Amino acid sequence: MRKLPKLLSKTKIMRGYQCVKNIYLTIHHPELEAKITPEQQAVFDQGNEVGEAARKFFPGGVLIDNKPWDFFGSLKKTRELLAQKTEIIYEAAFEHQGCYARADVIKYSPETQRWKIYEVKSSTKVKEEHINDVGLQAWIIASSGLPLEQINVVHLNTLCVFPNLENLFTIEDVTAKIREIYPRILPKITHLFSTINSETIPDIDIGPQCTAPYDCGFMDSCWKEKKVPELSVLNIPNLKEKKWEYFRQGIISVDDSRITELNPLQQRMVESFKTGKRFVNTEGIKTSLDSWKFPLVFLDFETMNPALPRFQGCGPYRHVAFQFSVHRMDSLQAEIVHTEFLHDLDSDPRPTLIPALLKACDGEGSIVAYFGKFESDRILEMAEFSPFHKEALEKLVPRIVDPLPIIREHVYDNEFKGSFSLKSVAPGILGKQQSYEGMLVANGSDAQRAYSELINSNTTADRKRELVTASLEYCKKDTLVMVELARWLFHLVAEKK
Ligand code: SF4
Repeated sequence: MRKLPKLLSKTKIMRGYQCVKNIYLTIHHPELEAKITPEQQAVFDQGNEVGEAARKFFPGGVLIDNKPWDFFGSLKKTRELLAQKTEIIYEAAFEHQGCYARADVIKYSPETQRWKIYEVKSSTKVKEEHINDVGLQAWIIASSGLPLEQINVVHLNTLCVFPNLENLFTIEDVTAKIREIYPRILPKITHLFSTINSETIPDIDIGPQCTAPYDCGFMDSCWKEKKVPELSVLNIPNLKEKKWEYFRQGIISVDDSRITELNPLQQRMVESFKTGKRFVNTEGIKTSLDSWKFPLVFLDFETMNPALPRFQGCGPYRHVAFQFSVHRMDSLQAEIVHTEFLHDLDSDPRPTLIPALLKACDGEGSIVAYFGKFESDRILEMAEFSPFHKEALEKLVPRIVDPLPIIREHVYDNEFKGSFSLKSVAPGILGKQQSYEGMLVANGSDAQRAYSELINSNTTADRKRELVTASLEYCKKDTLVMVELARWLFHLVAEKK
């Protein structure tokens, strides 16, 4: 057992709120924790960007710029600024009974001689976990001796539209909500401290807390210890809370006869697991494919959705396409023709992407997009952005057809492992060669990060070339996989005739 640190940060304590075993392992067995993934790092970086942007709405403050791990330096600087009667402080640090927190913004009210806390969240609403988080922070700050008047969560405002960023943030007074949970904070902290002071790891079973509100970094270790098979009751789609009820009763294997009341899709999964046979409803596929019109245009977008809006007409987290791939298939026998587009500048991609998209999708045939709602939403947003292209863009939308519901309704292979994403379905139906494994850009979030790096002026020319190649290869693969999937569906129907 490791020696306890003198101060425990609010971040660590919040891990204990999610699961006491998590905070115990964080302190005593940090070596078991998974490394931060690039996706998680991107979320942290985005959170920091939002925090910095929010400070501009509280001008004239003083920033305590000590590093996050410099607890005692930050505390000292805070005491100095408070002694100097500084009225707005960013990142002020406080401690009480071994608990440590930094507040995004604190502001003094001369009328009440009390302070207001403004905690910035990069979400677009106040979530339950925010109340616990800000409640703990307020408890540490108030207990350390700073009189509080009001506690606020500052979050992004979905009504904000670039370029007018005056209403980028919404300030929500959560004082009353925090008052409700306040009496429960000290008992919780006391329990957490007694747990982490214990010699033994808390006996906590895996459960929904492993992924909510955040993915726990100890899942590899805990789930391996529990010997959860790669495919278990936890993978049956849409079982929701019931899967954990089964799990707690020791019902873990997908083919356990005690799993009942399954819908047809879930039953197909169980059946396919038991028999190893693929489920295919050719008649259903045929009916669905009847509405597809040649030439087929297979379309896939890659998008960015920055928390802080950057382009005309966009609000927080609005998706903007920066890349597309199109494969055109005039008939099942014809050669496919590929068109692609990748914006590689740090500017709005839409003025160049839209004409290129319209040219690539020209004609009357169906536009095939996996989870096509995503593509149709982006096209309608582009129509809103560009009145000149509005009519042409809007004409694309009714042409969109979607293989996803066809697969979900009429096909199931054990290799899907309960998922109908293209990345699961493609290798399941078409074989391992259609897997995305080993690609430098292998999914949508890789594509977003590659794009951010590509448009960064500090990225070397060699790296940019590498990123362009990998990004084009990935998006092309998405539409090529759809082409193969469509061929497979049409061949099934043809064989049946
Ligand atoms: S994986 Fe689950 S059980 Fe293990 S520490 Fe994390 S939340 Fe707790």
